[in-house]
Amino acid sequence: MNIEEAILKVPKRGFLDIDIDPTLDLFAEIERLKKEKNAVLLAHYYQEADIQDVADYIGDSLGLAQYAAKTNADIIVFAGVHFMAETAKILNPTKKVLLPDLNAGCSLADSAPADLFKCFKEQHPGHLVVSYVNCSAEIKALSDIICTSSNAERIIESIPEDQPIIFAPDKNLGGYLNKKTGRNMVLWNGACMVHEIFSLEKIIKLKTRHPNAKVLAHPECEEAILRVADYVGSTTQILQYAVQDKTTQEFIVATETGIIHQMQKDAPEKTFIPAPPNNSCACNDCPHMKLNTLEKLYLCMEYETPELVMDEALRKAALKPIERMMEISRKVGLIK
Ligand code: SF4
Repeated sequence: MNIEEAILKVPKRGFLDIDIDPTLDLFAEIERLKKEKNAVLLAHYYQEADIQDVADYIGDSLGLAQYAAKTNADIIVFAGVHFMAETAKILNPTKKVLLPDLNAGCSLADSAPADLFKCFKEQHPGHLVVSYVNCSAEIKALSDIICTSSNAERIIESIPEDQPIIFAPDKNLGGYLNKKTGRNMVLWNGACMVHEIFSLEKIIKLKTRHPNAKVLAHPECEEAILRVADYVGSTTQILQYAVQDKTTQEFIVATETGIIHQMQKDAPEKTFIPAPPNNSCACNDCPHMKLNTLEKLYLCMEYETPELVMDEALRKAALKPIERMMEISRKVGLIK
């Protein structure tokens, strides 16, 4: 297939499906394209190690959204999943946003279809809608405030106590926040397939074999896992905790395995053990995140496709609750 034919197939295929010269140094090529096109490469912590190593910025949802909001680049290449690239586009309507594979979705975002959520919202009049950033632009447009796992607690605490709240789409994060803040938010019944996969029994067995290890968990994990965790936090918070903790050498990490690459880089003397899942597979990789590869990344930068395009009315409606999040985060001192 020639390149013109492959480009025509991108909307259906989701990515540019052509062979690459195997002798190409993709790291050097990606660096060249960044300079030539004034492109910035943002990568989520759950991306494969090669992509993290070539990125200009690696972060979790909050960090990536903040970086995307202030970049001067003409092109934002987003190595993450669809809702993240969508968030970058919402914040940067005049910039070209590229995603290596449009099929990189998210089971959590998919667990909240906009039509059903609209009905749910109508059944709870008078409620303020706080949505976790892991949702589609349509759900953002139906929300009053967006939050991330880094700022969720502070965002909820900034809302008057007598104001009823709907929290969407993650029931585990919502339940954790209800406990932390003493609220009784109405929760949408959504979840992330990766963070729901951990086995409590196997983690306890692992703890027995590594009695000095601390369990670090993301609040998207089920309550039973959070109960045995020594520390619960967003991906960035977990990373910082593991690196800065002077008393512990071993950690059992209950989140997507991609973060272990940065942990190992930032604290090479420590041991990081992925928390075991309850299936026979030995990994907790997010299948959506891992759809992006170095080859797809290079091709999308070289040919500037697939590009994330959005309806302008939807973009504007989805922007409002994100701006509200930034405003509150600034007010409570989380960002400058
Ligand atoms: S790890 Fe879970 S929440 Fe994150 S992109 Fe994958 S499916 Fe979505």
